[in-house]
Amino acid sequence: MIRFDNVTKVYDQNSRPALDSVSVEIDRGDFAFLVGSSGSGKSTFIRLVLKEDRATRGAVYVAGQNVANIPSWRVPKLRRGIGVVFQDFRLLPNKTVASNVAFAMQVIGKSRAVIRETVPEVLKTVGLEGKDHRMPHELSGGEQQRVAIARAIVNKPGILLADEPTGNLDPTTSMGIMNVLDRINQNGTTVVMATHDNVIVNHMRRRVIELQDGRMVRDEAHGIYVGSQ
Ligand code: ADP
Ligand code: ADP
Repeated sequence: MIRFDNVTKVYDQNSRPALDSVSVEIDRGDFAFLVGSSGSGKSTFIRLVLKEDRATRGAVYVAGQNVANIPSWRVPKLRRGIGVVFQDFRLLPNKTVASNVAFAMQVIGKSRAVIRETVPEVLKTVGLEGKDHRMPHELSGGEQQRVAIARAIVNKPGILLADEPTGNLDPTTSMGIMNVLDRINQNGTTVVMATHDNVIVNHMRRRVIELQDGRMVRDEAHGIYVGSQ
């Protein structure tokens, strides 16, 4: 589903690469933690998958396709197959929960009938049944992140990328978010979650890919993470 073939990313010629000769393969249906301290290259990895940046050397494949060969007019199609959530939620503040989710369907031209049917289903999946008409500011952080996840998965992407999704949440709320991501993964979506939260990683015992100063130093099927927060 995602393959990095000896990928190096250099932003600044005078400093070390953000990613240094990384080779890794994440299969369809996997759940992988991308761990490492701040500056280790996690966000760069995610941006390369989305073709928001391009590799300096090596190749990034998504769903079998070398992203370097995707022309700019087809990048939106690549990104449609990838849901993304961030630490800071990034909801539209003046739209209801339902219209935040509906918006993601409207922009790709889904019909009103399909939107009306799908939005309540996906809100149920993330545990927000009945919260359709709330505004983001009326929700807790954990609920806001659930809206962001609903929006990310509503168009049924094959891949969900989560960049520090629990970074602003307390431990109990974070576990709730992990349950949601786990459920989405069990429904067949490949999940890649960047985090430096060792409590979560050690609780979940899923695949752990560790980066240190841009280098991949570990890849374990049921790993732990000892790094500091
Ligand atoms: P992480 O997500 O693990 O915190 P990043 O991928 O954001 O790590 O950063 C990896 C390295 O690349 C850091 O040294 C960071 O300063 C550098 N970096 C990231 N983005 C840029 C950029 N747009 N321009 C220059 N350097 C960058
Ligand atoms: P506004 O555009 O004024 O924010 P709404 O939030 O009511 O209006 O609706 C925006 C979109 O969200 C509509 O396309 C509608 O289909 C969808 N939507 C709104 N409420 C619901 C709901 N309870 N269940 C499903 N879809 C909804």
